[in-house]
Amino acid sequence: MRTTWPNDALAAISLTFDVDAETGWLGEDPAYAHRLSTLSEARFGITRGLPRILDLLTRHDIKATFYVPGHTAELHPEAIKRIAHEGHEIGHHGHMHLRSDAIDANAQKEEIERGFEALAPIATPIGYRSPSWELTPETLELLKQHGFTYDSSLMGDDRPYTLENGLLELPVHWSLDDWPHLHWKPGRGDAFTSPQAFLDTWIKEFESALRDRRHLTYTMHPEVIGRGYRVQLLDDLIAAVRERADVWFATHADVAAFVTS
Ligand SMILES: [Zn+2]
Repeated sequence: MRTTWPNDALAAISLTFDVDAETGWLGEDPAYAHRLSTLSEARFGITRGLPRILDLLTRHDIKATFYVPGHTAELHPEAIKRIAHEGHEIGHHGHMHLRSDAIDANAQKEEIERGFEALAPIATPIGYRSPSWELTPETLELLKQHGFTYDSSLMGDDRPYTLENGLLELPVHWSLDDWPHLHWKPGRGDAFTSPQAFLDTWIKEFESALRDRRHLTYTMHPEVIGRGYRVQLLDDLIAAVRERADVWFATHADVAAFVTS
């Protein structure tokens, strides 16, 4: 896989955001429709997190990839349109954010098709990220049938790699995702990772990517990273990266086009 990047950049970084909003909870259990506090925290991602993130990306002149469940686009069309209007990539993230491993092949097909329909007025995604990063052989087959260029849900390498069916994989990892570190679920009991410790993890992984000259994906959620003191982490990450090296910040679509060219 590639170790050279456009404009002689020494590594490539994709900032990716999963805009689950209320859909993330409603897809897990319809009973969340009655849990207004949980839903309000999810909605914060749209009302406060997303505008902060978009402003920050504009300030740094970085284009990012936003994975949006179809149902989120139906609930918040203006917010999702703003993402596209500012030149960022919209990726497919299911419709009701249903985990592929929890539903049969027909329901998976419906998730993909309804997701496309809901996003159609805004964008036609070429990339897919499975809800909760659960992917089955049936999902991979469906991605191929629906003409996706790449997937970003698997963890079999830390460089872009090609799956058996020819699909490009832009891999992820839980340790680089803000949710397990910074999101707390009522009743769960375990503590947050300190923001500084999480930033250190992000920077250490960047330093290893720099040594390998590889591509690296960070995953975030607007309701998590979009809190005032946490969006500062993202600002600090970008500053730390740019201080150390000339890096190509690119959407997943741009990386996919480059590595397959
Ligand atoms: Zn998600």
